[in-house]
Amino acid sequence: MREIIKKAAKTNNLTEEEITLLLENSSFNGELFAAADFTRKQNVGDGVHLRALIEYGNICQNNCFYCGIRAAKKDVKRYRLDTETTLKAAALAKNLGYKTIVLQSGEENAAPLNEFLQIIKEIKNMGLALTLSIGEKTYQEYLAYREVGADRFLLRIETTDENLYQTLHPGMNLQNRLRCLKDIKKLGYETGTGIMVGLPGQTAKSIAKDILFFKELDADMLGIGPFIPCPGTPLENEKGGSLETALKVMAISRLIMPKINIPATTAMEAIEKNGRIKALQSGANVIMPNVTPQNERKNYALYPGKPGILQTPEEFLNSLKQTLSQIGRFVSQDAGMSLNYRPIE
Ligand code: SAM
Repeated sequence: MREIIKKAAKTNNLTEEEITLLLENSSFNGELFAAADFTRKQNVGDGVHLRALIEYGNICQNNCFYCGIRAAKKDVKRYRLDTETTLKAAALAKNLGYKTIVLQSGEENAAPLNEFLQIIKEIKNMGLALTLSIGEKTYQEYLAYREVGADRFLLRIETTDENLYQTLHPGMNLQNRLRCLKDIKKLGYETGTGIMVGLPGQTAKSIAKDILFFKELDADMLGIGPFIPCPGTPLENEKGGSLETALKVMAISRLIMPKINIPATTAMEAIEKNGRIKALQSGANVIMPNVTPQNERKNYALYPGKPGILQTPEEFLNSLKQTLSQIGRFVSQDAGMSLNYRPIE
């Protein structure tokens, strides 16, 4: 096991069998996390990039089995932020010193495109980098967002196991998700993907394939989090993923993709207090503070236990700065572009 970790750190390559072995054995977790932390320090440094997350809307036409804002979940109070409210949240983030806005939402194909393009333009006019995480769109739509300035796009593949994907996503298919990621790459977005760890039916072997997929895609950023069963969804009675396994998937990804950006995800904090800090010490270099207006935050409930619903953005930032300094890290002052990113020719 130790040899596999060393090999990963030295060559940035592992086979499917080696990754599976790492995932199936826990006795060397400490060494794996330490190696990923060292690789992170050597390649992307001690700065932590902060991305201000605006949960732009929870209206969704999809029915992903795990998700707390799936269309069929009728007890969700649906919302989409208007332009003024969105821009106010972005301005607040800018005042706090954040350099990147992430707009995330459910998938609402009927949402007015022009209004959304205007929001992108205005955020770019504020001198901020912009990441979109709004799901599967057509090539033309991805092109339109890019043309008005969107820089980055995050679309988790969730799982590359075709059968599992099909089971969890009625009416959707893995081929279209892959097409989206290809389009996003082709358009020169900094491209993010990722998975949920601990989905029912997911195996170590299938996660190993997911990790190799990240590398093959040459992703610039990766969002990895534990699956958390959400009441009122078809998976409500399933067992959730563990922080330990999610951290391992993240650490292995860091070892074989040393220059990418990896957030310490909110789901990690939701299942364990200080989960995000553990992630920062196991390969992560990004945090996504929530700047969604307080009154809507509770309505963007993908899973239970979402942290910081009542904390103001100012309170969060102050306590984060303190915690970061305690672990020898600091808030990065640049836009935090992925060092893995290569513009298209
Ligand atoms: N609709 C967009 C998309 O599909 O990319 C973005 C919003 S979606 C709600 C954001 C992410 O939330 C998904 O990629 C999924 O991995 C995560 N998520 C949803 N439900 C979850 C759950 N129960 N536990 C953990 N993560 C969850």
